[in-house]
Amino acid sequence: MSARQVLGAVEGGGTKFVCMIGTSPNDVVDEITIPTGEPAATLGAAIEFLQQPRPGCHVSAIGVSMFGPLGLNPDRPDYGGTLATPKPGWSFVRVVSPLTRRLAVPIGFDTDVNGAVLGEARWGAAQNLDPVVYLTVGTGVGGGALVNGGTIHGLLHPEMGHVPMPRLPGDDYAGWCPFHGRCLEGLVCGPALEERCGRPVSEVSPDDPVWELTARYLAYGLSTLVLTLSPRRIVLGGGVMRQAQLLPLVRHALVEILNDYVQVPEIQDRIDDYVVLSTLDQKAGLYGALVLAERALARFRS
Ligand code: ZN
Repeated sequence: MSARQVLGAVEGGGTKFVCMIGTSPNDVVDEITIPTGEPAATLGAAIEFLQQPRPGCHVSAIGVSMFGPLGLNPDRPDYGGTLATPKPGWSFVRVVSPLTRRLAVPIGFDTDVNGAVLGEARWGAAQNLDPVVYLTVGTGVGGGALVNGGTIHGLLHPEMGHVPMPRLPGDDYAGWCPFHGRCLEGLVCGPALEERCGRPVSEVSPDDPVWELTARYLAYGLSTLVLTLSPRRIVLGGGVMRQAQLLPLVRHALVEILNDYVQVPEIQDRIDDYVVLSTLDQKAGLYGALVLAERALARFRS
């Protein structure tokens, strides 16, 4: 009997690499979590996991979704690895070529947030919708977009967390982003909130005015996405969004900021179904990597 074809998926994060073998969230053959350390050791452990013999299974393609910025243009020499990143030791690390060398199967490669939007559109909070945007609000802010069936790769890849923000009255916080100060990430990421409040996010009271302010900035970010990409749904993830009081405030502020300019029932009547939380949560990027593997295999076979 011939071996069953399965896929490998890797989500590379700043604190951990999660790897799985399987074909869908309902068909997980094996899974492992590797703490993110020095690149060669981390990638080596991931490759070793993917290479393990599993009787009856054959890994036919691998998808990798990981933190960026990444080189995604196959015509450029920096394709398939990280670009300059503040994460120590992880600038200009080759990711795709060592996998190809050791495993000899097609490899799909994209950002963690592009992976997450693919996962949410396939199995999560935005099934069968296109275009869709996924935005994570956690230690950083980043977004991925599925548009006309594919994620966006252009000059680089979208960096939705770094759009500039208006200054709201009475807010003199300088912002957290080392590049822009008061960009979206600089104002609403977890470390920015902690710096602003002088204590961990989990200790800030749910009725603290900072949430209203944070929601307003987030809604400015989302309004930019609504107006530029026209997504059919926006999916929000990340640790900051686990503050339950935040989501209703974001929806309300988004409707107010758009001010009936985008006249569609999704925004005017059904905002609760339009801006939603991720349902795959921490697994969105991992399951998205499965979609990347599928797509790499389909490209290879065509
Ligand atoms: Zn920035």
